[in-house]
Amino acid sequence: MDAEIQKIMRNIPSMDKLLALPWIAEFEERLGRETVKALLSDLLAAQRAKIIKNRDTAFDANTIAADARRLLARRAQHSLRRVVNATGVVIHTNLGRSLLAKEAVEAVNEVAGAYNTLEYSLDRGERGQRNDHVEWLLCRLTGAEAALAVNNNAAAVVLALSALAKDKESVVSRGELVEIGGSFRIPDIMALSGTKMVEVGTTNRTHLRDYEAAITEECAMLLKIHPSNYRVTGFHSAVPREELASLAHSRGLIFMEDLGSGMLIDLSAAGLSSENDPTVAQSLKAGCDLVTFSGDKLLGGPQIGGIVGKKELIAKLKKHQLLRALRVDKMTLAAFEATLRLYLRGRHNDIPTIEMIFKPEEELRAAAQRFARRLKAFFKNTRIQRVYIEPVPVEDTVGGGSFPQSVLRGWAVALRLPEMGSAGKLAERLRLCAHPVITGAGEDRVLFHMRTVRPGDEKWILEALADILPPARERKI
Ligand SMILES: *Cc1c(COP(=O)(O)O)cnc(C)c1O
Repeated sequence: MDAEIQKIMRNIPSMDKLLALPWIAEFEERLGRETVKALLSDLLAAQRAKIIKNRDTAFDANTIAADARRLLARRAQHSLRRVVNATGVVIHTNLGRSLLAKEAVEAVNEVAGAYNTLEYSLDRGERGQRNDHVEWLLCRLTGAEAALAVNNNAAAVVLALSALAKDKESVVSRGELVEIGGSFRIPDIMALSGTKMVEVGTTNRTHLRDYEAAITEECAMLLKIHPSNYRVTGFHSAVPREELASLAHSRGLIFMEDLGSGMLIDLSAAGLSSENDPTVAQSLKAGCDLVTFSGDKLLGGPQIGGIVGKKELIAKLKKHQLLRALRVDKMTLAAFEATLRLYLRGRHNDIPTIEMIFKPEEELRAAAQRFARRLKAFFKNTRIQRVYIEPVPVEDTVGGGSFPQSVLRGWAVALRLPEMGSAGKLAERLRLCAHPVITGAGEDRVLFHMRTVRPGDEKWILEALADILPPARERKI
């Protein structure tokens, strides 16, 4: 290191100097002294590295102290925390997919901090099966002979393929070899599970004779995959489940379907239905031997993978070693059982995902008008001069790869504050405040889609706005 760089380095504040700053004590309280030191040490090392790379890097002791404070503040805060989803995407994978129903949250609370019957049979006074809590409910709600819950749907597919088609062939249509958000790629999942993928048909058309011609002595399974948010339209065809089922069964093969979003009830009343999107029960009835689905998509429960179908097949999955690595936690099982019980009682409208999907347009319009009035009243008490607030019709979506072409007609409140910079800037500020608000993108304004704004969220949004506005003489929320 040459003398000049050493001289520059001396301007970097020392660890002791930083530790003596008045606001450090609060972070030591929240993070522990050792962690504060380690974080500061990394920060100082990064600063030195920057200077070695480019000795003209501008800095002073104050900016480094400010960086340190920001870093510590970020680390002192919970990372996984609540946000307002004002995007109008109901099953927002990045924002946690489905919200749990009140009953499901209560069920989690009940078992989380207390001993419980996770693997204990009160009747017999001995070890029980964790799967028993939900198996009968899943069977009851889908008409299946047996059922199993695992960590998520990806795990369900891997377990089923590993247990039933490892070192054998599985036949799948080229039209269904999809990649689903966040790295779930059917060919890779099949390879991981040790089954040999046999592709048939073309991207847009696959016929029964394609499947027939591909079946060999080595074949174990015909596999059908829901294309999730991918659609082939126009000149296309796929083979109906019933025909695939009879082909599979006439050759002694298993017919399995990965349904993705598992619907337990028919959503056609919300304009959501197609032959591509059967309920779990309909898929079984059409002849599937096994059906897998997610718990936190349209079902509206916690992250879980459901596997339902033939008893002797589920029995093999239950015995497979891999299940031990994919098993479900007690909090998740509690939430899942409570969610399934809501379906059992016909109370699916108490499940937030279902309730939001079915929210009538008129109700959303009234909500947007009310919120627009509230926002206008709020801005009267600020120093912002130019405020544009307007209820507008919008297109909401189901999300989670479900019903990509169906639009839910909704309403939003559009907000434009030219004094605060572009819409993108406003959206960023709302995202970064203590009460983060994730907004929908309008062209030159931010949108608060009322469909996914939950009770109590409006107050959060006002608090977030109050956070980011220039100081006012008098501010009322
Ligand atoms: C979403 C989806 C998956 C993955 O489900 P996870 O529960 O997220 O693991 C797999 N297959 C299909 C068809 C899906 O839509």
